[in-house]
Amino acid sequence: MQSCMRRVRFCYGHRLHNYQGKCATLHGHNAVVEVHAISSDRSRPGLDEHGMVIDFSVLKNTVGEWIDTHWDHTVILSAEDTETIALVKQCPGEKAPFILDANPTAENLAHHLLWSVCPELLRGSGVLVHKVIFWETENCFAEESLDLASDAVKRLFERNEGRGEKR
Ligand SMILES: [Zn+2]
Repeated sequence: MQSCMRRVRFCYGHRLHNYQGKCATLHGHNAVVEVHAISSDRSRPGLDEHGMVIDFSVLKNTVGEWIDTHWDHTVILSAEDTETIALVKQCPGEKAPFILDANPTAENLAHHLLWSVCPELLRGSGVLVHKVIFWETENCFAEESLDLASDAVKRLFERNEGRGEKR
């Protein structure tokens, strides 16, 4: 199986809700996200006519743009962290906090990208993001990947088939 990866760098703030430890304090990270993609086009598995899984610039212009718009220089908070959400909303700034339905750990952010963001952005593109590695610091990362044999992933494959179709 051939895959390709695009790296996306961004800055964000967060805190962990209902947590004892340093990350209960509002703070920030310089994150690096690795977005790994494979072909989901059964008529042309592997590489396209240009010899690519997907043009790196497509990953930059879809997933990279989404991260830039929604996460870069924002505060990412759990929906249950209502006090901090209210506090951050009082700060004059360009961007509202991004609210996640779980604590904003590297694991949950990788999960959100893999299952919610990437399938929607790449629907019908003929490629599937099968792995996201979220580097919270240069020493710590979380990884989530698809079980390619599972029924949920088979449905994603069907939705993403048809390389070249526009969303
Ligand atoms: Zn942190």
